[in-house]
Amino acid sequence: MLHIDILTVLPDLLKGPFDHSILKRAQQKQLVELEIHNIRDFTTDKHKSTDDYQFGGGAGMVMMIEPIDNCLKHLKSKRIYEEVIYMTPDGERLNQQIANQLSMKSNIAILCGHYKGVDERVRQYFITREISIGDYVLSGGELPAAVLIDSIVRLVPGVLSDETSALFDSFQDNMLAPPVYTRPEIYNEWKVPDILLSGHFKNIEEWRHNEAMERTKKRRPGLLND
Ligand code: SAH
Repeated sequence: MLHIDILTVLPDLLKGPFDHSILKRAQQKQLVELEIHNIRDFTTDKHKSTDDYQFGGGAGMVMMIEPIDNCLKHLKSKRIYEEVIYMTPDGERLNQQIANQLSMKSNIAILCGHYKGVDERVRQYFITREISIGDYVLSGGELPAAVLIDSIVRLVPGVLSDETSALFDSFQDNMLAPPVYTRPEIYNEWKVPDILLSGHFKNIEEWRHNEAMERTKKRRPGLLND
């Protein structure tokens, strides 16, 4: 069982993504447990603020260390975390290999930043790993956390059925996935490749491998050298 705790100031932003399809089923099957924690519930401040002006001046608020520390203390009293992850554009770039690694863990906490980000001391003293979902800046860490969690959860053993096995997805073996087709066989005179209708499993496998290789060479030749 993989347990993921998510720390956020905007819990509502995270409600939708986990309540559908594969992520929903993973939780129903009790293969994964996702818990969202509102950092605002851990302030001692009477205005319940979680952010403040930055030292040295300049525009943009910074998330304060104390509520995050309180929230983490509360969580750590219940579990031992293998990773406490901060979503941040200057972290290591998420890829399938990182998702594979994290899918084998039992307890992960993920901190979502907002505004200018979090007080640097949070990163220094509490965070064990920093992950970015790409070289662009979003307004908060919630969508990145949802992306990370989706990429991890579908790799947890038992979450995907054999037919949808992640083994055949792009990047899993440093190759892109081959093209796929479904009914009808002919649409507007556009035909599905004959081989896929042939019933020859071995030829089909070979065709898929060749298509995957062609596509990888053309679109992402760098993957083949990794
Ligand atoms: N000032 C920061 C960006 C803050 S964006 C900087 O320039 O690096 C606000 C929050 O959104 C961040 O704390 C982070 O949690 C999240 N975020 C934004 N872009 C992200 C990305 N590409 N990957 C992961 N998290 C991101």
